[in-house]
Formats: sequence, C-alpha cells, structure tokens
Amino acid sequence: MRERDDELEAPEDRRTRAQRERAALGALSVVYREADAAWAPFSCPASGECCQLTKTGRQPWLWRAEWVRLLERLKRDGRPLPPARADGACPFLDDTGLRCSVYADRPLGCRTFFCDRIRGPERQPAEVMDLLQRKLERLSVALDEEDTGPRPLLDWHRTTLPSLSNLPSPSGRGTG
Ligand code: SF4
Repeated sequence: MRERDDELEAPEDRRTRAQRERAALGALSVVYREADAAWAPFSCPASGECCQLTKTGRQPWLWRAEWVRLLERLKRDGRPLPPARADGACPFLDDTGLRCSVYADRPLGCRTFFCDRIRGPERQPAEVMDLLQRKLERLSVALDEEDTGPRPLLDWHRTTLPSLSNLPSPSGRGTG
C-alpha cells in the first residue's frame, strides 16, 4: 500500500515524488481556476444538500491529485482527516452540516455543481468539462503513473490512513 511504502522510500525518491506532487498541485490549481471561470455564470441555492452524499446517492469522483490537495489543505490548517459522519454526508462539511470546510480546495465535481438544483444558462459547458477531465487525468498520471482513475470521495476517505493527515506539514507540501 502506498502509505506503508512511504516509510521505506529512499530520501532521493521522496524528494522526486515531492517535486512531482508540487508540479501536479500547481497544474491542478490552473484546472480549478479554469473550472471556476467556466461555471461563473452558474449558481445554486447553497443548501448543502448536494453534500449529503449517502442520502442523495451521488458524490464527486476525485483524481488522486484532488485528494492530495484536500489532505494538503488539512495539513496547512493543522487539523486531522475528519471522521466519517453518522449521517453519511461528506466528512468535509463543518459542524453545522451546511458549509464546506475546504471550500477553496473543493474538488472539480463540487465546483461544477453535480447537484440538479444548479441555476444559470440552459446548457452547462460540457466540452470544457471534457477538457478539464483530460487535464486532470494527465496531471494525476504524472503524479502517479499507476493511477487507476478517479474514485468516489467517500472511497478516498475510507482508504486514507488517518495518521497521514494528522501530521501538519510546515512546508505545506508533505506526502499524501
Ligand atoms: S468537498 Fe465540500 S462541497 Fe464537496 S461534497 Fe464535500 S462538503 Fe460538499
């Protein structure tokens, strides 16, 4: 398992991986900015309903780089990976259960309104989404050539060792 392998990794390999991770996260920021610009004409009632993942049966699918970015956010904040919620909603919801606690770093799916209550122009920019997905795939494979593709958010959450996100990284660029 990747997390276990980290402990056995040579310092040189760890440095190389940290560089790859920095590059991938930089490219991810560009993808997110492009998504925000393309979906700027759209909005939603901000009810937090789409974050009720188990209840709605829908959830965002994240490429590895997106999950790494969320873990980096937690490290910067000095907070651990939040536990699973009893109601099955997204663990990144704040205590009120209404607001996203990682909003600036939320994944592409959350930026592009995977909820049916989206408001705005009649047609969403599907071609932009295709392009962004291809970019996400490229940068995630650059991060890890064995990347097997996007996974549901709750799946990433379930399989991430809590100890990894319990360790604040002063550089903000620790391992994922
Ligand atoms: S990451 Fe934020 S916006 Fe996305 S489902 Fe979770 S709480 Fe909602």
